[in-house]
Amino acid sequence: MTKHALVTKLIPCLSDNYAVLAHDPEENVTLLVDAPEEGPIMAALQETGWTLTHILITHHHHDHVGGLAAIKAATGAAVWGPEMSREKIGHIDHGVEDGDKFKFGAVTIYCLGTPGHTLDHISYWIPDAELAFTGDTVFALGCGRVFEGTLRDMWFSVDKLAKLPPETTVFCGHEYTLANAEFCLTIEPDNELLLQRVNDIRELRAKGLPTVPTSILEELTTNSFIRANHQDIKDSLGMSEAEDPEVFAEIRTRKDKF
Ligand code: ZN
Ligand code: FE
Repeated sequence: MTKHALVTKLIPCLSDNYAVLAHDPEENVTLLVDAPEEGPIMAALQETGWTLTHILITHHHHDHVGGLAAIKAATGAAVWGPEMSREKIGHIDHGVEDGDKFKFGAVTIYCLGTPGHTLDHISYWIPDAELAFTGDTVFALGCGRVFEGTLRDMWFSVDKLAKLPPETTVFCGHEYTLANAEFCLTIEPDNELLLQRVNDIRELRAKGLPTVPTSILEELTTNSFIRANHQDIKDSLGMSEAEDPEVFAEIRTRKDKF
């Protein structure tokens, strides 16, 4: 059971990015995860009437920080982000790394180092609110492209997030779900839960609706990247004896060419 529910608001930005607000009405604090662009985020703050107090940055890519300077200037919110990219990103008040934690009103936010997509990537987890923000590490039915780390790094990052409590609600950085779904079907054409989920996703996208947030449980049952440690997937890829990171690397490499 959620010990301390937060009210969330997903904000589509740019062509396929998501920012998200999480608000605590009792404590009157509001956080923003990632700052792709100023316009839609300021509009969402205006619409909700929430006062932004905390900005959390997952990684240095421009589509996650392009609006940071303007949003910070407009709101005066304090900024947490990867210590490793403090200078590159700028505007960071609190540099964080794996294992750090900080308070958000009555709850604690945990910083999980999740390198692979970038070396600086931090995911944020709020156990009391059963919420996680996974940026470009775990997507609905996917995971981020590996740009800076190794495929092995990315496997351990994805697996770290997979081990969060199954009931955790997961917000990720992009709406890539439909393309990810088509790919997962090539890896697990007989996964019943995946087939059902793909139908749901097609319906949502046909109506222009988001497929985010997802949950750890949904990803554990249908996301082929997270499931690289399942023997049936290893068998179907002809990698029965392979270690988990090798199987993940094969799946991630296939997706790059998909
Ligand atoms: Zn990125
Ligand atoms: Fe991104």
